[in-house]
Amino acid sequence: GPTILWLRRDLRLRDHPALVEAARQAESAGVTAVFVVDPRLWAGGGDARRRWLADNVQALEHAYDGHLVLRVGAPEEVIPALASEVGARAVHISRESTPYGRRRDERVQAALGDVPLVATGTPYAVGPGRVLNGSGSAYKVFTPFARAWREHCWPAPADVPSPLRWHDARSDQQARALLKKARETGPAPAFAAGEEAALARWDEFVDEAVATYDTDRDLAAVDGTSRMSPYLKLGIVHPRTLLASLGARRGDGVETFRTELAWREFYADVLWHQPHSAWKDLRGNLAGMAYDEPGDDVRAWQSGRTGFPFVDAGMRQLLAEGWMHNRVRMVTASFLTKDLHVWWPIGARHFLEHLVDGDLASNNHGWQWVSGTGTDAAPYFRVFNPITQGQRFDPDGTYVRRWVPELRHLEGGAVHEPWKHTDGYVHGYPERIVDHAEERREALRRYENAR
Ligand code: FAD
Repeated sequence: GPTILWLRRDLRLRDHPALVEAARQAESAGVTAVFVVDPRLWAGGGDARRRWLADNVQALEHAYDGHLVLRVGAPEEVIPALASEVGARAVHISRESTPYGRRRDERVQAALGDVPLVATGTPYAVGPGRVLNGSGSAYKVFTPFARAWREHCWPAPADVPSPLRWHDARSDQQARALLKKARETGPAPAFAAGEEAALARWDEFVDEAVATYDTDRDLAAVDGTSRMSPYLKLGIVHPRTLLASLGARRGDGVETFRTELAWREFYADVLWHQPHSAWKDLRGNLAGMAYDEPGDDVRAWQSGRTGFPFVDAGMRQLLAEGWMHNRVRMVTASFLTKDLHVWWPIGARHFLEHLVDGDLASNNHGWQWVSGTGTDAAPYFRVFNPITQGQRFDPDGTYVRRWVPELRHLEGGAVHEPWKHTDGYVHGYPERIVDHAEERREALRRYENAR
């Protein structure tokens, strides 16, 4: 009989071990590829996220020559129903490691009864939970993890099965309608959907930017990073494909890039071992910390109207593109937690709603890093200064002018301190909602009290 390939965070054709395994086992009976719109996940993201997903499901349907079944509903009902409909001998997946994904897959296996749920591969070069230290336990901090991760083997990229035979089933009209609506109502994404587009962008990055990645990656106005995160998020490319493409290349840019990919793997590993770290402080070091309830200040932060140009530019890029430069993610997160004294999950939730690369492990551990509760947390007393960060990482102000039109009349680095220019506010740009020096002292006071 046929096999089912149930696609989740692996929306691609190439380098797809679960597809290879599904095709091998199905032989001439063919593979039924299915994408399930899961209402529990569908409701969790904003319009930009839903559109990014819907665009990529459509691109996958093209890549599979139309052989993609679309269904909607709770997977523990939809998948067993499809399995009996096509007489599937097995359901193939890439292994999921998030708390929700793990529970869901257990429920689906229980509901499938005798039909096995077969996991082959993961969204990572090394599956979460597999990098262990000499005494067989998980690494707690990044650097030794990254060293062991680099020495760990991972398989070479998998070839596309040939011939690739499909076993079709009908799509559900309601699933089609939901995806279509998301494509039509969501804001146009800043990223081109699909595997071909992802690989084209990757080639451009390797040709033009990876060599200087170590120095350019911090400059907010420069297109100096790979912009692979939205693709990695949905498995449109696999990190192993990227690592293999870099091969044995050396140089500071390439090494730094490998290290950044290792952060993604590390955070997934931490979440695997400590699922509670998704929404609770990883360490109890700030358990006694006093936080403020979110109010008008948080709303100003969310809409990019704090009066701090670098922060506002980042928050507006998030709303416009569903993406934000890494340096600016750090500065905006620091602003919420240290200048506005708000607990990090409030900010993490806002990011996850809007980011097209929004990923529980990378996002929430990134927030914990900034707020001082995470794995390799920056010491709490190191508070980012939103003005000097802008002056350092957007020295000529290009990034701010791109996202804050009210300040476009200010030249060069002057955009970072509009209050110094007499006409700084005439275009409706807000005054600073807090005094940074004052709030920094307040953050440190609260920190001392918490200790
Ligand atoms: P590049 O610089 O080209 O890096 C290549 C890849 O390495 C990225 O695509 C990503 O997969 C990985 N990577 C790089 N930096 C990190 C990091 N610090 N942590 C984990 N992985 C990393 N990344 C997400 O993918 N999803 C998120 O939801 C997310 N939320 C974040 C929230 C905060 C508060 C912070 C500080 C960081 C967050 N990051 C997140 C990490 C990082 O900002 C993005 O991965 C990066 O900006 C994506 O752009 P890029 O693909 O051009 O990155």
